[in-house]
Amino acid sequence: MKVNMMHGAGGEVMGELLQTLTKFRHNNAGGIGLEAMDDGAVIPFNGENLVFTTDSHVVRPIFFPGGDIGRISVCGTINDLAMMGGKPVALSCGMIIEEGFEIDDLARIVASMDEALGEAGANLVTGDTKVMERGALDGIAINTAGIGVAKTIVRDNGLVCGDVIIVSGTLGDHGLAIMAHREGFDLGEQIKSDVSPLWGLVEKVLDAGTVHAMKDPTRGGFASAINEMARKSGVCVRVQEEKIPIRKNVRSAAGMLGIDPLEVANEGKVVMGVPATCVDAVLEALHSHKYGKDAAVVGTVTKGAHVIMETAIGGERFIEPPMGDPVPRVC
Ligand code: MG
Repeated sequence: MKVNMMHGAGGEVMGELLQTLTKFRHNNAGGIGLEAMDDGAVIPFNGENLVFTTDSHVVRPIFFPGGDIGRISVCGTINDLAMMGGKPVALSCGMIIEEGFEIDDLARIVASMDEALGEAGANLVTGDTKVMERGALDGIAINTAGIGVAKTIVRDNGLVCGDVIIVSGTLGDHGLAIMAHREGFDLGEQIKSDVSPLWGLVEKVLDAGTVHAMKDPTRGGFASAINEMARKSGVCVRVQEEKIPIRKNVRSAAGMLGIDPLEVANEGKVVMGVPATCVDAVLEALHSHKYGKDAAVVGTVTKGAHVIMETAIGGERFIEPPMGDPVPRVC
Protein backbone atom coordinates (compact mmCIF):
# COMPACT_ATOMS: atom_id res chain seq x y z
CA MET A 1 0.00 0.00 0.00
CA LYS A 2 1.21 3.50 -0.79
CA VAL A 3 0.43 6.83 0.88
CA ASN A 4 -2.31 8.86 -0.80
CA MET A 5 -3.77 12.34 -0.20
CA MET A 6 -6.55 10.98 2.02
CA HIS A 7 -3.87 9.77 4.44
CA GLY A 8 -3.23 13.44 5.23
CA ALA A 9 -6.85 14.52 5.47
CA GLY A 10 -7.33 14.13 9.18
CA GLY A 11 -10.19 11.60 9.21
CA GLU A 12 -10.70 7.87 9.53
CA VAL A 13 -8.36 7.14 6.58
CA MET A 14 -5.52 9.03 8.24
CA GLY A 15 -6.07 6.76 11.24
CA GLU A 16 -4.83 3.82 9.10
CA LEU A 17 -1.57 5.66 8.42
CA LEU A 18 -1.23 6.61 12.08
CA GLN A 19 -1.40 2.93 13.05
CA THR A 20 2.00 2.62 11.37
CA LEU A 21 3.38 5.99 12.42
CA THR A 22 2.57 5.67 16.12
CA LYS A 23 4.19 2.28 16.68
CA PHE A 24 6.82 3.60 19.05
CA ARG A 25 7.65 1.57 22.12
CA HIS A 26 9.41 4.66 23.47
CA ASN A 27 6.42 6.97 23.46
CA ASN A 28 5.88 8.52 26.89
CA ALA A 29 8.19 10.73 28.96
CA GLY A 30 6.28 10.23 32.19
CA GLY A 31 3.04 12.16 31.68
CA ILE A 32 0.77 12.09 28.64
CA GLY A 33 2.50 10.61 25.61
CA LEU A 34 1.96 9.71 22.00
CA GLU A 35 -0.33 6.78 22.93
CA ALA A 36 -3.01 9.25 24.09
CA MET A 37 -3.18 10.86 20.62
CA ASP A 38 -4.27 14.07 22.31
CA ASP A 39 -3.51 17.58 20.98
CA GLY A 40 -0.13 17.53 22.69
CA ALA A 41 2.03 15.67 25.18
CA VAL A 42 2.53 16.51 28.84
CA ILE A 43 5.89 16.06 30.55
CA PRO A 44 6.07 16.62 34.30
CA PHE A 45 9.24 18.59 35.07
CA ASN A 46 10.32 20.13 38.40
CA GLY A 47 6.74 20.29 39.65
CA GLU A 48 5.43 21.91 36.44
CA ASN A 49 3.46 20.40 33.58
CA LEU A 50 5.34 21.04 30.37
CA VAL A 51 3.15 20.71 27.28
CA PHE A 52 4.83 19.83 24.00
CA THR A 53 3.41 19.60 20.50
CA THR A 54 4.31 19.90 16.82
CA ASP A 55 2.46 20.68 13.62
CA SER A 56 3.43 20.87 9.92
CA HIS A 57 1.81 23.10 7.32
CA VAL A 58 1.42 22.73 3.57
CA VAL A 59 -1.72 24.83 2.97
CA ARG A 60 -2.42 26.04 -0.59
CA PRO A 61 -2.63 28.83 -1.53
CA ILE A 62 0.01 30.08 0.91
CA PHE A 63 -1.77 33.46 1.13
CA PHE A 64 -5.53 33.10 1.55
CA PRO A 65 -8.41 35.31 2.76
CA GLY A 66 -7.95 35.87 6.49
CA GLY A 67 -4.45 34.44 6.79
CA ASP A 68 -1.43 32.71 5.32
CA ILE A 69 0.83 29.72 5.88
CA GLY A 70 2.87 31.71 8.44
CA ARG A 71 -0.07 32.60 10.66
CA ILE A 72 -1.49 29.10 10.47
CA SER A 73 1.85 27.48 11.32
CA VAL A 74 2.13 29.49 14.53
CA CYS A 75 -1.56 29.21 15.44
CA GLY A 76 -1.68 25.44 14.81
CA THR A 77 0.96 24.80 17.45
CA ILE A 78 -0.23 27.45 19.90
CA ASN A 79 -3.76 26.11 19.73
CA ASP A 80 -2.70 22.51 20.33
CA LEU A 81 -0.80 23.69 23.42
CA ALA A 82 -3.85 25.68 24.52
CA MET A 83 -6.14 22.65 24.07
CA MET A 84 -4.06 20.86 26.74
CA GLY A 85 -4.37 23.89 29.03
CA GLY A 86 -0.86 25.02 28.14
CA LYS A 87 0.20 28.66 28.10
CA PRO A 88 2.48 28.86 25.06
CA VAL A 89 6.07 29.82 25.90
CA ALA A 90 8.42 29.02 23.01
CA LEU A 91 8.19 27.71 19.46
CA SER A 92 10.61 26.30 16.95
CA CYS A 93 10.24 26.63 13.21
CA GLY A 94 11.56 24.33 10.50
CA MET A 95 11.15 25.65 6.96
CA ILE A 96 11.69 23.61 3.83
CA ILE A 97 11.77 25.94 0.86
CA GLU A 98 11.79 25.21 -2.86
CA GLU A 99 14.46 26.79 -5.02
CA GLY A 100 12.98 29.85 -6.74
CA PHE A 101 10.68 30.85 -3.87
CA GLU A 102 10.29 34.64 -3.57
CA ILE A 103 12.27 36.17 -0.68
CA ASP A 104 9.57 38.86 -0.41
CA ASP A 105 7.00 36.14 0.23
CA LEU A 106 9.24 34.67 2.93
CA ALA A 107 9.42 38.08 4.56
CA ARG A 108 5.61 38.36 4.52
CA ILE A 109 5.33 34.89 6.06
CA VAL A 110 7.80 35.71 8.83
CA ALA A 111 6.03 39.01 9.64
CA SER A 112 2.74 37.16 9.85
CA MET A 113 4.22 34.50 12.16
CA ASP A 114 5.63 37.23 14.37
CA GLU A 115 2.28 38.96 14.66
CA ALA A 116 0.57 35.74 15.77
CA LEU A 117 3.36 35.07 18.28
CA GLY A 118 2.91 38.54 19.75
CA GLU A 119 -0.81 38.02 20.09
CA ALA A 120 -0.28 34.75 21.98
CA GLY A 121 2.59 36.06 24.13
CA ALA A 122 4.99 33.43 22.79
CA ASN A 123 8.42 33.57 21.17
CA LEU A 124 10.07 31.72 18.31
CA VAL A 125 13.41 30.76 19.80
CA THR A 126 15.00 28.25 17.46
CA GLY A 127 14.71 27.16 13.86
CA ASP A 128 16.09 25.38 10.86
CA THR A 129 16.01 26.01 7.12
CA LYS A 130 16.49 23.62 4.22
CA VAL A 131 16.26 24.40 0.50
CA MET A 132 15.27 21.73 -2.02
CA GLU A 133 15.75 21.85 -5.76
CA ARG A 134 12.99 23.10 -8.03
CA GLY A 135 10.26 20.49 -8.42
CA ALA A 136 11.18 18.58 -5.25
CA LEU A 137 8.60 20.52 -3.26
CA ASP A 138 5.61 22.73 -3.95
CA GLY A 139 6.93 26.11 -2.73
CA ILE A 140 7.25 25.83 1.01
CA ALA A 141 6.43 23.58 3.96
CA ILE A 142 6.65 24.84 7.54
CA ASN A 143 6.88 22.80 10.71
CA THR A 144 6.58 24.36 14.13
CA ALA A 145 6.90 22.76 17.54
CA GLY A 146 6.05 24.43 20.80
CA ILE A 147 6.36 24.13 24.52
CA GLY A 148 3.95 25.53 27.05
CA VAL A 149 3.20 25.25 30.75
CA ALA A 150 -0.16 24.05 32.07
CA LYS A 151 -1.57 24.96 35.48
CA THR A 152 -4.59 22.77 34.74
CA ILE A 153 -4.21 19.97 32.22
CA VAL A 154 -7.26 19.58 30.00
CA ARG A 155 -7.71 16.40 27.97
CA ASP A 156 -9.90 15.55 24.99
CA ASN A 157 -11.31 12.46 26.76
CA GLY A 158 -12.85 13.98 29.89
CA LEU A 159 -16.50 14.37 28.87
CA VAL A 160 -18.99 13.09 31.46
CA CYS A 161 -22.77 12.66 31.38
CA GLY A 162 -24.55 15.93 31.99
CA ASP A 163 -21.79 18.05 30.42
CA VAL A 164 -22.78 20.75 27.99
CA ILE A 165 -21.01 21.04 24.63
CA ILE A 166 -19.98 24.55 23.65
CA VAL A 167 -18.32 25.73 20.43
CA SER A 168 -16.39 29.01 20.60
CA GLY A 169 -17.81 30.37 17.33
CA THR A 170 -18.95 29.76 13.77
CA LEU A 171 -17.91 26.46 12.18
CA GLY A 172 -16.45 25.77 8.75
CA ASP A 173 -14.92 29.21 8.10
CA HIS A 174 -11.35 28.12 7.37
CA GLY A 175 -12.09 25.18 5.09
CA LEU A 176 -14.72 27.03 3.09
CA ALA A 177 -12.53 30.16 2.83
CA ILE A 178 -9.79 28.05 1.24
CA MET A 179 -12.19 26.19 -1.03
CA ALA A 180 -14.22 29.24 -2.13
CA HIS A 181 -10.97 31.09 -2.87
CA ARG A 182 -9.62 28.19 -4.95
CA GLU A 183 -12.89 27.94 -6.86
CA GLY A 184 -13.02 31.72 -7.41
CA PHE A 185 -16.48 32.06 -5.87
CA ASP A 186 -17.90 35.53 -5.50
CA LEU A 187 -20.49 35.34 -2.74
CA GLY A 188 -20.73 39.05 -2.07
CA GLU A 189 -19.08 39.12 1.33
CA GLN A 190 -15.82 37.18 1.14
CA ILE A 191 -15.44 34.12 3.38
CA LYS A 192 -12.43 34.61 5.62
CA SER A 193 -10.41 32.01 7.46
CA ASP A 194 -10.79 32.07 11.24
CA VAL A 195 -7.08 31.29 11.78
CA SER A 196 -6.26 32.72 15.22
CA PRO A 197 -4.12 31.98 18.27
CA LEU A 198 -6.51 30.87 20.99
CA TRP A 199 -4.50 30.94 24.22
CA GLY A 200 -5.99 34.28 25.39
CA LEU A 201 -9.50 32.92 24.90
CA VAL A 202 -8.75 29.59 26.56
CA GLU A 203 -7.04 31.29 29.51
CA LYS A 204 -10.17 33.39 30.14
CA VAL A 205 -12.34 30.29 30.04
CA LEU A 206 -10.10 28.30 32.42
CA ASP A 207 -10.16 31.22 34.87
CA ALA A 208 -13.95 31.42 34.65
CA GLY A 209 -14.96 27.80 35.15
CA THR A 210 -14.24 24.10 34.86
CA VAL A 211 -13.62 22.52 31.46
CA HIS A 212 -13.84 18.72 31.32
CA ALA A 213 -12.59 18.31 27.75
CA MET A 214 -11.31 20.47 24.91
CA LYS A 215 -10.26 19.98 21.31
CA ASP A 216 -9.67 22.24 18.33
CA PRO A 217 -11.80 21.12 15.36
CA THR A 218 -9.07 21.33 12.71
CA ARG A 219 -8.87 18.81 9.82
CA GLY A 220 -12.11 16.81 9.64
CA GLY A 221 -13.85 19.70 11.39
CA PHE A 222 -16.39 19.56 14.18
CA ALA A 223 -17.59 16.13 13.04
CA SER A 224 -14.16 14.59 13.55
CA ALA A 225 -13.39 16.40 16.82
CA ILE A 226 -16.68 15.67 18.56
CA ASN A 227 -16.60 12.01 17.53
CA GLU A 228 -13.07 11.65 18.88
CA MET A 229 -14.04 13.33 22.14
CA ALA A 230 -17.17 11.15 22.54
CA ARG A 231 -15.33 7.92 21.66
CA LYS A 232 -12.37 8.57 23.95
CA SER A 233 -14.68 9.63 26.80
CA GLY A 234 -17.04 6.65 26.35
CA VAL A 235 -20.16 8.82 26.10
CA CYS A 236 -22.88 9.87 23.66
CA VAL A 237 -23.12 13.47 22.49
CA ARG A 238 -26.45 14.87 21.32
CA VAL A 239 -26.15 17.98 19.14
CA GLN A 240 -29.00 20.31 18.19
CA GLU A 241 -28.60 21.30 14.55
CA GLU A 242 -30.30 24.69 14.80
CA LYS A 243 -27.93 25.75 17.59
CA ILE A 244 -24.75 25.22 15.53
CA PRO A 245 -23.40 28.62 14.46
CA ILE A 246 -22.56 28.67 10.74
CA ARG A 247 -22.11 31.85 8.70
CA LYS A 248 -24.59 32.37 5.89
CA ASN A 249 -21.89 32.66 3.22
CA VAL A 250 -20.16 29.54 4.55
CA ARG A 251 -23.44 27.66 4.35
CA SER A 252 -24.01 28.87 0.76
CA ALA A 253 -20.51 27.95 -0.40
CA ALA A 254 -20.76 24.57 1.31
CA GLY A 255 -24.08 23.94 -0.44
CA MET A 256 -22.67 24.87 -3.85
CA LEU A 257 -19.64 22.64 -3.35
CA GLY A 258 -21.56 19.75 -1.80
CA ILE A 259 -19.38 19.94 1.30
CA ASP A 260 -20.61 19.48 4.87
CA PRO A 261 -19.40 22.56 6.83
CA LEU A 262 -19.11 20.35 9.91
CA GLU A 263 -16.43 18.24 8.18
CA VAL A 264 -14.01 21.01 7.18
CA ALA A 265 -11.17 22.53 9.16
CA ASN A 266 -11.45 25.40 11.60
CA GLU A 267 -8.23 27.09 12.71
CA GLY A 268 -9.52 29.39 15.42
CA LYS A 269 -12.21 27.46 17.26
CA VAL A 270 -12.55 25.27 20.34
CA VAL A 271 -15.05 22.53 21.13
CA MET A 272 -15.42 22.08 24.87
CA GLY A 273 -17.42 20.06 27.34
CA VAL A 274 -18.23 21.87 30.58
CA PRO A 275 -20.34 20.92 33.61
CA ALA A 276 -23.85 22.41 33.46
CA THR A 277 -23.10 24.58 36.52
CA CYS A 278 -20.28 26.36 34.63
CA VAL A 279 -22.05 27.04 31.34
CA ASP A 280 -23.03 30.64 32.06
CA ALA A 281 -19.59 31.60 33.36
CA VAL A 282 -17.81 29.94 30.43
CA LEU A 283 -20.12 31.51 27.86
CA GLU A 284 -19.63 34.92 29.45
CA ALA A 285 -15.85 34.49 29.29
CA LEU A 286 -16.04 33.40 25.65
CA HIS A 287 -18.35 36.24 24.63
CA SER A 288 -16.04 38.79 26.27
CA HIS A 289 -13.14 37.79 23.96
CA LYS A 290 -12.85 38.85 20.32
CA TYR A 291 -12.46 35.22 19.18
CA GLY A 292 -15.47 33.98 21.18
CA LYS A 293 -18.20 36.44 20.18
CA ASP A 294 -20.31 33.77 18.44
CA ALA A 295 -19.81 31.05 21.07
CA ALA A 296 -22.86 28.86 21.57
CA VAL A 297 -24.13 25.83 23.41
CA VAL A 298 -24.70 23.16 20.76
CA GLY A 299 -25.40 19.96 22.68
CA THR A 300 -25.23 17.78 25.75
CA VAL A 301 -23.45 14.63 26.89
CA THR A 302 -25.47 11.54 27.76
CA LYS A 303 -24.87 7.86 28.46
CA GLY A 304 -24.08 5.67 25.47
CA ALA A 305 -22.01 6.08 22.34
CA HIS A 306 -21.97 7.99 19.02
CA VAL A 307 -22.73 11.59 18.17
CA ILE A 308 -26.37 12.17 17.36
CA MET A 309 -27.71 15.26 15.62
CA GLU A 310 -31.25 16.35 16.41
CA THR A 311 -32.14 17.95 13.10
CA ALA A 312 -34.00 21.19 12.59
CA ILE A 313 -37.02 19.32 11.19
CA GLY A 314 -37.33 17.08 14.25
CA GLY A 315 -35.45 13.98 13.08
CA GLU A 316 -32.27 12.37 14.28
CA ARG A 317 -29.14 11.22 12.50
CA PHE A 318 -25.60 10.26 13.39
CA ILE A 319 -22.80 12.73 12.88
CA GLU A 320 -20.26 10.23 11.54
CA PRO A 321 -16.52 10.69 11.86
CA PRO A 322 -15.57 11.78 8.30
CA MET A 323 -13.30 9.57 6.18
CA GLY A 324 -11.20 12.69 5.67
CA ASP A 325 -11.47 16.44 5.37
CA PRO A 326 -13.12 17.15 1.99
CA VAL A 327 -10.73 20.06 1.40
CA PRO A 328 -7.20 18.83 0.55
CA ARG A 329 -4.13 20.68 1.87
CA VAL A 330 -6.24 22.87 4.09
CA CYS A 331 -3.54 23.49 6.71
MG1 MG B 1 -5.59 19.67 17.84
